[in-house]
Amino acid sequence: MSNCVIVGINWGDEGKGRMVDFLTDRYDVVVRYQGGGNAGHTVINEKGKFALHLLPSGVFRRGVVNVLGNGVALDPENLWKEILELKSRGVGITPDNLKISERAALLLPWHRDQDALEEARLADKKYGSTKQGIAPFYSDKYQKKTVLAGELRYPEELRRHLKELLEWKNLTLTKVYGAAPYTMEMMEAWIREYCEPVAPFLCNTGEILKTAQAEGKSILFEAQLGALRDLDFGICPYTTSSNTLAAYAPIGAGLPTAGIDEVIGVVKAYSSCVGEGPFICESFGEEAEKLREAGAEYGAKTGRPRRVGPVDLVATRYGIAVQGASKIALTKLDVLGYLEKIPVCVRYRTGKEETDIFPFPTELEKAEPVIEYLDGWQCDISGVRSFDELPEAARNYVLYLEQALDCPIAYVSVGAERESIICRSGEREEAAGGVL
Ligand code: GDP
Ligand code: MG
Repeated sequence: MSNCVIVGINWGDEGKGRMVDFLTDRYDVVVRYQGGGNAGHTVINEKGKFALHLLPSGVFRRGVVNVLGNGVALDPENLWKEILELKSRGVGITPDNLKISERAALLLPWHRDQDALEEARLADKKYGSTKQGIAPFYSDKYQKKTVLAGELRYPEELRRHLKELLEWKNLTLTKVYGAAPYTMEMMEAWIREYCEPVAPFLCNTGEILKTAQAEGKSILFEAQLGALRDLDFGICPYTTSSNTLAAYAPIGAGLPTAGIDEVIGVVKAYSSCVGEGPFICESFGEEAEKLREAGAEYGAKTGRPRRVGPVDLVATRYGIAVQGASKIALTKLDVLGYLEKIPVCVRYRTGKEETDIFPFPTELEKAEPVIEYLDGWQCDISGVRSFDELPEAARNYVLYLEQALDCPIAYVSVGAERESIICRSGEREEAAGGVL
């Protein structure tokens, strides 16, 4: 039995979905434990290329039970559309391989509206939301002003509850934002179209996980976004509205007693960041353009061009610390193959001082990157499957990061496809399990 959490170490989009899909054949259960349909977890395998938003990235493996935990923002509309899309592409999603926590709170249609209305009100001070309703959803969850998924099984009580919430939310929509109110007819249509189809997937996932734990099954916990977007430890206020940390996995998954054996922190070989907020290592102009093109850095959910820059040791070390990562999966190393010299952000300059400690959010606005350069390898490494076969400069880059980050780099991903990965000593045999 082993419990492993796969988390993002940086700003998100590090390649978590890719790593979950690769490693899932070692696990019996995969649980998404926080965040919502604003995720974009890209998976490329024998079934095709997929961008998963809310579904756990274990859905492609036969025999794996996928769970949406109580910690997620359960958006029935987007979830149902996602299920239909995957089914239409030959991926079987049934109540046997997808279990949704009856304790997950529902993201209601007005959360999306409120998100968009608030971003519009903020104008040039906007947070860079994906407008999927995540912030209003979690605010309402903590105010206890939303509905638990399990309430779908109690139609009368559900309607009474929704009516109360609707009256309350309409005050904000109409009086604060001057927007149109919701009606019960609109909610009836929403229940019919999106909630009823997902109802058969609901169950007491806590019991399922407890049984799995008792039977010695292996559980993989899948996070969304990255450490720097964590509500408590991230770049406030440009964070997401949930906890993206491994420590939250047992709670958000619905197994508060779970011990975590391993935390795999996914780190990109360079940096990318979607949306607003301080991004100290950011590159601009032609340098950024080339990296963005080489890494195809456009949001999986939004299509937005991602901000890019060199790997940031200060932010990454901080991410590793708050995640408690025991291993690193380094992704997209192949992307750097076009560079003669590889920039690395080694420290931050704050006024006259230099620091390698990640600053308090207010201080971040004033920080500047200190850049050093390593030799590039200038060739295509996407076909390499063993560490020793990498060009010397590529090996040096990995070893340099391993030392600077003080965490073993167990996996080096050199392509987006499931098999395009180097498992370093000991990991290969364990992870292979018929994949390689
Ligand atoms: P996630 O949100 O952390 O799951 O990451 P995303 O899927 O949003 O972004 C990662 C992107 O990089 C996706 O387009 C992946 O297909 C792609 N990708 C992942 N690993 C590699 C890799 O090692 N090399 C290359 N070239 N692309 C990769
Ligand atoms: Mg993503």
